[in-house]
Amino acid sequence: MFGLRKTLGSLFHSQRADEAWFDALEESLILSDVGLRTTEQLITKLRKAAKSEKVPNAEALQALLIQEVSSLLEVLEPTPNPLYMHDQKTIPEVWLVIGVNGAGKTTTIGKICNLFQSQGKSVLLAAGDTFRAAARHQLQEWGLRNQVDVITQDGGDTAAVAHDAIHSAISRKSDILIIDTAGRLATQDHLMEELKKVKRVIAKALPGAPHQTLLVLDGNTGQNGLSQVKAFHEALGLTGLIVTKLDGTAKGGVICALAQTFQNSSKPAVFALGKGEGIEDLVPFTAKQYSAELFS
Ligand code: GDP
Repeated sequence: MFGLRKTLGSLFHSQRADEAWFDALEESLILSDVGLRTTEQLITKLRKAAKSEKVPNAEALQALLIQEVSSLLEVLEPTPNPLYMHDQKTIPEVWLVIGVNGAGKTTTIGKICNLFQSQGKSVLLAAGDTFRAAARHQLQEWGLRNQVDVITQDGGDTAAVAHDAIHSAISRKSDILIIDTAGRLATQDHLMEELKKVKRVIAKALPGAPHQTLLVLDGNTGQNGLSQVKAFHEALGLTGLIVTKLDGTAKGGVICALAQTFQNSSKPAVFALGKGEGIEDLVPFTAKQYSAELFS
């Protein structure tokens, strides 16, 4: 369960939406990372509706809030969602997965590997985080759990692993190749250059690849998460996002802030949400459902 349920408490069940009610709602929206601008716009709309007597009580305002946020979030909905409505055009299809350390990248790769397999696809994994032996071992564990092979190299860099993995995927006729990458944030410029090189090497090994460049983002990182998406998108042209750790948090508003920021520009779509550490804890993102969960 994520959302503001805990912080809002009985707010939506109270009869009257008075000044104190609006103040409490405003504070909760800000605390959940919805962002100042979006919060102000939402509160203004709700106040207007309350004044016009069209929406007189808290419960009706809750419905209006859900509706407003849902239409704000629609710009982030993928149509169709390449994780769930899989119309595969090339074999192998290459998914490059990036994100800062700790965001949940490796876990998410384990989950999407399982998801593709459940759709009857053959999957190959590549352990591109060559800086951390632990990351490689962790991916190998997910490989074991999913019963898929993991391409690794002793030494070498991410680009070399990716190159190797593409040739393996081609010769094995794997449907999907998922490439993990390093995610050290301390040296962001270096990381971006490294990842750009990885993309170039992948495109050279298989024209048209990577077919998806997916950023895994910790849903609790607030403003910092927003800057991460901007920086990665500018440098690498993201096609998709998976937002993790949305279970048991009062946060999760960062997706609203993303929608507001990217409203009129090129943006990655939100493919799915991570809601736990288990292999099945991944749900498709839809604006309507997310908004309803956030404010119910
Ligand atoms: P990486 O460094 O980006 O590869 O991150 P990991 O996949 O190792 O995940 C870091 C930690 O977050 C691990 O303890 C994971 O079990 C945990 N984690 C990943 N996704 C989720 C999620 O959706 N919900 C929760 N609660 N924990 C998660």
